[in-house]
Amino acid sequence: MLRRSIYKTPVQLRAMLQPGRITADALQAVRAIVAPGVTTAELDATAARIIESRGAESNFQLVRGYRHTTCVSVNEQVVHGIPGDRVLEPGDIVSIDAGAQYAGWNGDSAITVVVPDPDRPELVAARDELSRVTEGSMWAGIAAMARGTHIGEIGAAIEDHIVGAGHGYGILRDYVGHGIGRKMHEAPSVFNYRVPDPGPRIRPGLVLAIEPMVVAGSEETFVEEDEWTVSTVDGTAGSHWEHSVAVHDGGIWVLTAPDGGAAGLEPFGVRPVAFE
Ligand code: MG
Ligand code: MG
Repeated sequence: MLRRSIYKTPVQLRAMLQPGRITADALQAVRAIVAPGVTTAELDATAARIIESRGAESNFQLVRGYRHTTCVSVNEQVVHGIPGDRVLEPGDIVSIDAGAQYAGWNGDSAITVVVPDPDRPELVAARDELSRVTEGSMWAGIAAMARGTHIGEIGAAIEDHIVGAGHGYGILRDYVGHGIGRKMHEAPSVFNYRVPDPGPRIRPGLVLAIEPMVVAGSEETFVEEDEWTVSTVDGTAGSHWEHSVAVHDGGIWVLTAPDGGAAGLEPFGVRPVAFE
């Protein structure tokens, strides 16, 4: 069997810039319309419109049996929620996952947004904190990718960030990050926690989707009757953040961040380096 290298050539890395940007723009447009009264199908339609307008296609629709552009997961749903007629309510915590395929190459990214609720400031603060810590753990993982020698260091950094926050959050074990390129999901797996195996080397050509999935309570989850949606057993809220990140000869670049990851990586003392 022919095994494709997990490392891309400079030409292949360059081909991943555009799908990354399109994915970023789609999620930015979705973020802008999250509000009480909006349906999850409307979020999906917004992402679809951006992706199609840029001459790309939704890579989620290339997943067998899936007909939507995004996954939208609300409250106790952590990942793989199906967009539909659910209406967003004040205080909801909403994770949106999307990806674009452009000229045969893929981007994959996710954000979490908390819907404002003036009547429940404590609930909103707790959910904002869950999202903030989850996002921070993703940036900690990306910083470890910038500095580390093996991909096992990424999961260790994510776990340390979550544990260090001191809230007792759970990290999903059954769902992990991945390589990305010609396919949305490629080898290797990127664990969101410490594992004994150091994993493949981090070197130019490596492109990973780093995506911690974090919950306010127990990490135990189940798949709902729709056969997609992953929800917490204890009903506590979840958050999911994701970026596709490339290592090139000059450094790292976050393909699905409009600024290449500059703002998110700044607290970790890492500066992304653009390439073309
Ligand atoms: Mg994703
Ligand atoms: Mg992914």
